[in-house]
Amino acid sequence: MITLKIDNTEVTVQDGATVLEAAEQAGISIPTLCHFQGLEPFTSCMVCMVSDESGKLFPSCSMPAQEGMQIFTSGDEVVEARRTALELLLSEHVGDCEAPCVTACPAHMDIPLMNRLLAAGKTDEALTVVRKDIAMPATLGYICSAPCEGACKRKDIDEPVAICLLKRFCGTDGEMPVTKTEMTGKSALVIGAGPAGLAAAWHLQTSAIQTTLTDKNSTPGGTLWNSVKENTLPKEILEKEIQFILSAGITLKKETDISETELEALRRDFDCIIIATGENGNDFGLETTKQGIVVNRETFETSEPGIFATGSVTRKTKLAIAALAQGKRAAKAAYQYLVGENITGETTRFNSKMGRLMKEEVSEYLSESVEYTRVNSTAEKGFTADEVRKEAARCMHCDCRDKEDCLLRKYSDEYSASQRAYDKGEREPIVKHMQHGEIIYEPAKCIKCGICVQLTAKHKERYGMTFIGRGFDVKIGVPFGKDPGEGLEKIAREVVDACPVGALTVK
Ligand code: SF4
Ligand code: SF4
Ligand code: SF4
Repeated sequence: MITLKIDNTEVTVQDGATVLEAAEQAGISIPTLCHFQGLEPFTSCMVCMVSDESGKLFPSCSMPAQEGMQIFTSGDEVVEARRTALELLLSEHVGDCEAPCVTACPAHMDIPLMNRLLAAGKTDEALTVVRKDIAMPATLGYICSAPCEGACKRKDIDEPVAICLLKRFCGTDGEMPVTKTEMTGKSALVIGAGPAGLAAAWHLQTSAIQTTLTDKNSTPGGTLWNSVKENTLPKEILEKEIQFILSAGITLKKETDISETELEALRRDFDCIIIATGENGNDFGLETTKQGIVVNRETFETSEPGIFATGSVTRKTKLAIAALAQGKRAAKAAYQYLVGENITGETTRFNSKMGRLMKEEVSEYLSESVEYTRVNSTAEKGFTADEVRKEAARCMHCDCRDKEDCLLRKYSDEYSASQRAYDKGEREPIVKHMQHGEIIYEPAKCIKCGICVQLTAKHKERYGMTFIGRGFDVKIGVPFGKDPGEGLEKIAREVVDACPVGALTVK
């Protein structure tokens, strides 16, 4: 047995154990991408770096634990070494974690998932996906300027997917019950029932916070009524969506103008308050600048704890989708405050971006889609159910199938790694190997960890996966020019689960 200290915690391990295994035994987690339980250490990712008492850095997965060792798993140099290792991996990695349409949407709605559901005729499920981020999909479907379509990758081939009209169809034709969840017992007041206030109230109420919404006018909707007056939005669409939001159990108090003194009293009646009174709203005696009430840009907190402000009362915005997105984000921060979590607001995650499609990638992306051009329609006409299925099928699944579980994304986030730190100015083209019935292999996302090579050898796959070539140009592939359909006959699922990134994924 060997006894060593890791981060000043003493741990005794079997002879032959590595420092990584010793740390695991001591309950100390060390990040690694190429280590896999039961396989030989391969030491290719170099993310598991630690230091000893002299400050020397080494990878913990292949270093045998030695008697009396003093190991440190944190500290500036260790963090820097891990970040560098991640940045080197990223410099050779090509892929989009999130589809570019999602990044461009102020509400970060899961557009590719909506499209996949619509293409499969699942309108109700698609509506549920949309409403998670956008409280008023039908209304927005009429008036949104659709920044998502400006970023859609399909426009590199022909025309962007008609995301906005597809979303509108979800709102007009989808049915979604408001599931009444068990309430948390916390209450919120949202002052102002314009787009930001309606969104904040919807997201709070559906997060089990009993919400009261007030407005000085006799009808909620605020500036959204301007679009009705301009004939860009049918009145009944707006009315129906407002009614749906309220049906979640929100208490509406119309013609209620709340003054500064009342705010003090209201603080005793509600656990938190969100001010969403629009451009000409009352500042309630809070700290302001020329732009409006001063808020933390991420968390929407004002100078008073428990009071949040969102929408044009903090920053002028003409985009309805931006107002709805801000309402949602303020609701998230208010929720965190109410349940005693750290108030971070909606945090953005590391997002690998591959940029515009290269010529040779067009056929790869179309292999997950259809070749015809955008289905004709106009903003007035919208789509029929058949047209929706047809248009939604044009979406190319630009989001990575591993975006939730990918370790490269997770650690790049944790270590603030930059994708551009070792940018070579050129990149490998994306190839999608779809020959296997169940799985997809994308070599440009492979980090050459060797796990699939070892696993397929261990399980005696007929061909398996192997290293092809040497040095910097080494690639992972199937030997003898075979495809992944032939390489992964027996343990495809197991290999997909073991792959630390989105190189091998289920279709
Ligand atoms: S493999 Fe990971 S880092 Fe790469 S695009 Fe997919 S989720 Fe992002
Ligand atoms: S093709 Fe689909 S997933 Fe890709 S950017 Fe366009 S809408 Fe988004
Ligand atoms: S494809 Fe194989 S070598 Fe590449 S990242 Fe996945 S498991 Fe590792």
